[in-house]
Amino acid sequence: MKPHFSIALSPGHTPTAPGATRGNVTEYGLSSAIIGDMIFRLSKLGHTAHLIGSNTNSAQVRRINKIAPDFGLELHFNASVREDWNGSMVLHAGSQRGVDLANAIQKSQIKALGTKNKGIHKAHYRLDRRKPIITIVRETACPFVVIEPLYLSNAQDFERIDVPGISIAIVSGCLNYWEGLG
Ligand SMILES: [Zn+2]
Repeated sequence: MKPHFSIALSPGHTPTAPGATRGNVTEYGLSSAIIGDMIFRLSKLGHTAHLIGSNTNSAQVRRINKIAPDFGLELHFNASVREDWNGSMVLHAGSQRGVDLANAIQKSQIKALGTKNKGIHKAHYRLDRRKPIITIVRETACPFVVIEPLYLSNAQDFERIDVPGISIAIVSGCLNYWEGLG
């Protein structure tokens, strides 16, 4: 196993359609801040972190497959009309490496954030097995996961938001995954 990895990092959603919101906090804004912090931390450790900017899913997939990183992730935050729903989950496409990556990040984030463990799941749209796997997870050639560290719609989870804290937790999960492959 080479000492350093390359990784594709995508903030969920776009500036104009920012996803879930709580007050002025949006999924896009929060995930962008965390991805920015991750790029800084991973670069300091000698890894190569590529920011995958807002675009259509197909353009993002083309870019990721052209870069051909060792693995990648997209960061989201969950939300529900059920305000009591809370916790962390990671979504994968079902390959062994995807499952290993999801497990490593899930373990790290529930430990760091103190969130409820909602497990890892196959990345069907809306977690509905009749629906296809989310495009960016399905069409990327490398192991690729979608991370949902907590629910923006839950007051206790919202209090757990800490940009460097979440960044460090996900970076640590990525490092553990990479070391586990050795
Ligand atoms: Zn989202």
